Amino acid sequence: MKFIASLCAALLMAGCASVEPPAPQIVSVEAWGGTPASAPAPAQQISKITLHHQGEIWKDGTDVQNYLRRLQQWSRLTKRWADIPYHYVIAPDGRIYAARPLQQAGDTNTEYDPRGHALVMLVGNFEEQQPTPAQLNAAVDLTAWLARENKLGLDDIASHKDYSRQTVCPGKNLYAYLESGWFKGEVGRRLEAR
Ligand SMILES: [Zn+2]
Repeated sequence: MKFIASLCAALLMAGCASVEPPAPQIVSVEAWGGTPASAPAPAQQISKITLHHQGEIWKDGTDVQNYLRRLQQWSRLTKRWADIPYHYVIAPDGRIYAARPLQQAGDTNTEYDPRGHALVMLVGNFEEQQPTPAQLNAAVDLTAWLARENKLGLDDIASHKDYSRQTVCPGKNLYAYLESGWFKGEVGRRLEAR
């Protein structure tokens, strides 16, 4: 009986593993030269996934790790936030960088309440620039993984301006992928993949 029980447990685990979208590769805060927040932000349970853009023109050849270190400094020294306001930052080459710990609520310059939101930021200004295919693909992978990990559905995925009228974030050229249904369609495909 004990053998059968453990066999069932093993099969169950194998079954669970096969429906999980693979965890994307994420560059840790330590690896990009950031430091942990000294004053943690309020704790949160993730109930939404929200896309942002950087809102500044991204110049080719910009050192992403250097940018992240400057963003962390600015967030703490100028904004007096505990950390970078977002939880993940995605570079044009599709690399995903960890920022604020996901278990801590993010911050915003606008009027919406970011508590409960996993905040995903793609570098660039998508009012004027286009997200790269690699950046979009990484955003889909990350969103699918976050949705699965936090038991969320496609309705829980949106963007900054869906919650705030004070912003054009994530920029019309990224928003177009949400508006057309492409983004959620791709996330859905990742979630259904066996
Ligand atoms: Zn935003």
